[in-house]
Amino acid sequence: MYTVKNYVIADSLEQAYDLKQKGRNNIIIGGNLWLKMGHRAIQNAIDLSRLGLDQIEEDAEGFRIGCMVTLRQLEVHEGLKTAFGNVFQEAVRHIVGVQFRNLASVGGSIFPRFGFSDVLTAFLACDSYVELYQGGTIPLREFAEMPLDNDILTHIYVKKDGRRVCYQSYRLTETDFPVLTCAVARKENGFETVLGARPKRAVCISDVELHTPEDAGEREIYAEQTAGKAEFGSNMRGSAAYRKELAKVLIVRALTELTEDETCR
Ligand SMILES: Cc1cc2nc3c(=O)[nH]c(=O)nc-3n(C[C@H](O)[C@H](O)[C@H](O)COP(=O)(O)OP(=O)(O)OC[C@H]3O[C@@H](n4cnc5c(N)ncnc54)[C@H](O)[C@@H]3O)c2cc1C
Repeated sequence: MYTVKNYVIADSLEQAYDLKQKGRNNIIIGGNLWLKMGHRAIQNAIDLSRLGLDQIEEDAEGFRIGCMVTLRQLEVHEGLKTAFGNVFQEAVRHIVGVQFRNLASVGGSIFPRFGFSDVLTAFLACDSYVELYQGGTIPLREFAEMPLDNDILTHIYVKKDGRRVCYQSYRLTETDFPVLTCAVARKENGFETVLGARPKRAVCISDVELHTPEDAGEREIYAEQTAGKAEFGSNMRGSAAYRKELAKVLIVRALTELTEDETCR
């Protein structure tokens, strides 16, 4: 069980940031779903829920998603669906249940860069940027490799660049953590694959070429080469060798959908 000494509803991001700098026991609360599983003695639990960060705003170039937006909002947002198809829906639909997804926040899902994250995998497969209170705007791909620090993630921006993304994951049982996550993006100039739950932070592999995706044999070769570039680990859900084999299967499935099924965009 965790304990909280002071619960602070922040009036501004500046106040939240200053309080967070007072030490590692001063933390931001998102949906509180991960935090409540822990055993921390929290000095100040900082709530951002009155700062208007629970909106998904669309402009001509993309979507600006506040850190307090819930996974359920991502799942049912019509604009995101029109622009990116079912990638966000597919990425979150196995995460526990609707009531859970009504609380789990984008900030709490992206900032910790969990090694099992479906959400990180999906955003990495798009052209995404994080907006940090102190660190400014940086590509998510850079952020995904950075060590955890004391900043606050305020928004994530996803550009509409016409890419099509297919999301795949594999679980031993429904609603469990994934054994592996995989999202393949088809861009104007080629393919990119994100592999997550390796069980390490998701990575994007963009330097494998696939010239004729209509050819099943070429898809197998792309999958083999892409899986060969990622590092996998072992845990109670699967070995590194198993994950590598799984990666090849999920990549081929995603490529096949992207090539043959026009509903997967
Ligand atoms: C039982 C269970 C099963 C899960 N299964 C999956 C799964 O299958 N796939 C998957 O992808 N995820 C899964 N998750 C993770 C889940 O989707 C959420 O990502 C997670 O619960 C955190 O979201 P939250 O909003 O509750 O964050 P919180 O628990 O409130 O916070 C999590 C961490 O993020 C920090 N934080 C929150 N917001 C910010 C911010 N704006 N800026 C900086 N730091 C911030 C907090 O200080 C804390 O350290 C699971 C979680 C649980 C508890």
